Amino acid sequence: MRLLFCGVRGSTPAPGAEFVRVGGHTSCVALAHDDDPWTLLLDAGTGIRRVTAELGGAFRGSVLLTHLHWDHVQGIPFFAAGDRDDAHVRVYLPEQIGPEGRVRDAAEVLALAMSPPHFPIGPEGLRGDWGFAGIATGPHRVEDFDVVAFDVPHKGGRTFGYRISDGDASIAYIPDHLPDAATTPAIARACAGVDVLVHDAQFVERERAVADLYGHATVDDALELAALAGARRLALFHHAPARSDDDVELIGRTLAAAAADRGVDVFVAREQDVIELAASRR
Ligand SMILES: [Zn+2]
Ligand SMILES: [Zn+2]
Repeated sequence: MRLLFCGVRGSTPAPGAEFVRVGGHTSCVALAHDDDPWTLLLDAGTGIRRVTAELGGAFRGSVLLTHLHWDHVQGIPFFAAGDRDDAHVRVYLPEQIGPEGRVRDAAEVLALAMSPPHFPIGPEGLRGDWGFAGIATGPHRVEDFDVVAFDVPHKGGRTFGYRISDGDASIAYIPDHLPDAATTPAIARACAGVDVLVHDAQFVERERAVADLYGHATVDDALELAALAGARRLALFHHAPARSDDDVELIGRTLAAAAADRGVDVFVAREQDVIELAASRR
C-alpha cells in the first residue's frame, strides 16, 4: 500500500511563505495498491486538487469522508480529475439521521454546503459518473481495501474514523477528534496494531481550552492513543492553519522525543510526502 499526503491542514487553507515546507492545503490523503493509480481518497479538502496532477487522467475510485466540515469537502468541485466525463467517483459519508429518524439522502446532505447561493453548482452538476451514499459504522470493502468505519467524538456533526488495510499493511485515519474516556478504549481497539495512525494534531497542551471548545485533540492526546493502540508510527496531521513550518516542526521534534520510550515513531505529515507501507514493514 502507498499513502500520499495531499493536504495536511485543518480548518482553512494556509497559503504563504511560512507554510511551504509542511503545506497549506486542507485534509486529503490518497491511497493506492502498490504501484497502481490512487483509487481511495480520505476526505476531500483542497488537497484533493493534488490528486489530479498525480493521475494524469480521470479519477476512477472512491472518496471516504470522515465528516462534512468545510476543510474536508471544499475540494470536491475543484477536483478536475473527478469532474470530467470519463471519471467514476463514489463518495461515502457517515450516515446522517434526520429529525424523523430516517436516514437522510447523502447528496442532499452534501448539497447543504455545495449548491446555490453558496456555490454555483450542486453535487449533481459534477461531470462524469458520481454517486453519493451514507455508510454505517463497521466493516466495508472499498476499492479492494478492507475498511472499518467507527464513530469519533468531534463537534458539530457525526464524525467517523477509518481503519484501512490491504491485508498486509494497515493505517488508521482520524483527522478530527476530541478524545474522551468513554470512547477512547473502543477507538484504540479499532486502531490496534496499525502501521501508521494519521491523527488530529491541531493543538498543543497549552491550548487545551480552545482544543476542547473546537472539538479537537492535542498532540499529547494523539500520542496517548497511538501508544494505547500499539500503532507503530504516528503521523501528526490536521495542523492548525496559523502554525508556521518552524512551529509545526518544533512540535514534531518535541513529541518524537517524548515518544521515544513509548514505542511510537512520531513524524509530521507534510503535503506531497509518500509513505510506502509494505516497505516500512520489511
Ligand atoms: Zn477538520
Ligand atoms: Zn471537523
